[in-house]
Amino acid sequence: MRIAAVLSIALLAAACAGVPFEPLPEAPALRETPAVGSPNDAADDPAIWIDRADSARSLILGTDKQAGLYVYGLDGAVKDFLAVGALNNVDLRQDVTIGAFAGDIAAASNRSDNTVTLFTIDKGKVTKSGAFASAIVEPYGLCLGVSGGKIYVFVAYKTGDLIAYELSGAGAGVEAARLKLASQLEGCVHDDDAGVLFIGEEGRGVWKAGFANGAFDATTPVDAVRGPSGIHADIEGMAIYRLDETRGYLVVSSQGDDSYAVYDRAGDNRFLGRFRIVAGAGGVDGAQETDGLDVTAAALGPDFPAGLLVAQDGFNDPKGSKQNFKLVDWRRVNAALALPK
Ligand code: CA
Ligand code: CA
Ligand code: CA
Ligand code: CA
Repeated sequence: MRIAAVLSIALLAAACAGVPFEPLPEAPALRETPAVGSPNDAADDPAIWIDRADSARSLILGTDKQAGLYVYGLDGAVKDFLAVGALNNVDLRQDVTIGAFAGDIAAASNRSDNTVTLFTIDKGKVTKSGAFASAIVEPYGLCLGVSGGKIYVFVAYKTGDLIAYELSGAGAGVEAARLKLASQLEGCVHDDDAGVLFIGEEGRGVWKAGFANGAFDATTPVDAVRGPSGIHADIEGMAIYRLDETRGYLVVSSQGDDSYAVYDRAGDNRFLGRFRIVAGAGGVDGAQETDGLDVTAAALGPDFPAGLLVAQDGFNDPKGSKQNFKLVDWRRVNAALALPK
């Protein structure tokens, strides 16, 4: 009885705290962007653009889901802001050809006008290039993919639907395929090399589906919440750290316990560990309750020689600050989890 009572008090305390904070490996944030302009839950999802001419001048696109799209430098400073509406998720692809367009393209789920809003990125300048209507009200999660030489925008919905739209230009797209899961979806990432789409079902876990010739294969589970890996709902942003055509990692925001899960990108997506983003030097706080994230394995100048992880921070310090994005030197994640090559 006494042990049971102590246990239930401990469980109650954990429940009250909202999070069972088991110790996990830690990677410090190197720096942070300024807070976004909108109050409360506002910063949401980043995407990394690589400057091929000078990778230290690469950029981060980040959504303010009440207002538009920020463009940040690797120093975190704001370079530009596009007041194009309530963009929830953003993703991009570089060096693509779509009809008459050749270059870099970004897409975002726009809840102000129920569209997928498209942008071109030319020498670091982000410009809105068009939009097309979402087939279901409230485009929510979004990611891009290159498949069979075509460019697809995958939009995930609160209804559990996920639609692949094929881009027909830098400003237009048409529905190509659809799949459905049981409950609310958001995060997704397409592995262009493998032809696999990873999908986050917020309350249940991570799934994947093969995608080829404009059609989905069967959906299979990668990991489940409340399972051995310890991931917690909501499952949120996800991205791929690409070492080469086959090797790398899938990184997933386990929002409910302020952690990030890492899986083998290939094969059966073996679980490799979880870590937290903690405070770094110079007063930069860690990241909690992360919505969107992005990662690259590309060397981005002296601060990020093994790549960069960007994560939305739901609780930006000092307390009461508006939300922002944290930048993490991937070497610190590698060191925290001793990841296999
Ligand atoms: Ca949030
Ligand atoms: Ca969400
Ligand atoms: Ca924080
Ligand atoms: Ca801060």
